[in-house]
Amino acid sequence: MRDDNCIFCKIANGEIPSATLYEDDDFRVIMDLNPASRGHSLILPKDHAANLFELPDETAAKVLPLAKKIGAKLSEGFGSDGFNVVQNNGECAGQTVFHFHTHLIPRYKGDTVSVKWVPGKLAEEDIEKAKSLFS
Ligand code: AMP
Ligand code: ZN
Repeated sequence: MRDDNCIFCKIANGEIPSATLYEDDDFRVIMDLNPASRGHSLILPKDHAANLFELPDETAAKVLPLAKKIGAKLSEGFGSDGFNVVQNNGECAGQTVFHFHTHLIPRYKGDTVSVKWVPGKLAEEDIEKAKSLFS
């Protein structure tokens, strides 16, 4: 399913040109237009899903192997020292384009990329809450 109002649907399906690194029946991998670092790329499924929770399991299962494959090439080719795989869901989590995508972000010693949070302290109440969801 494609969404006519979605820019990533158009990019993923080749209606809008992009710096494409890889394409198969299910995905297109493009370079991010406003990269956090050299080589920053995005895995886009060709079918529209707004976020991880809408993504079919069959597609989701292919994302990490693809991230590994493309990430390894980017990392080696650009000579990165580390690598972040980032996937945002919802505005408050930093999602700005509401078509599922996975960021592949090569990291370099001393770079200014920020994928950080202030560590908190695990509360007993939250352990109980979370555990109750799975019992
Ligand atoms: P997120 O904030 O996780 O939704 O990430 C959206 C990403 O898409 C950002 O890193 C943008 O720089 C990138 N982006 C937005 N529009 C385009 C585009 N037309 N081509 C390539 N990357 C884009
Ligand atoms: Zn879309």
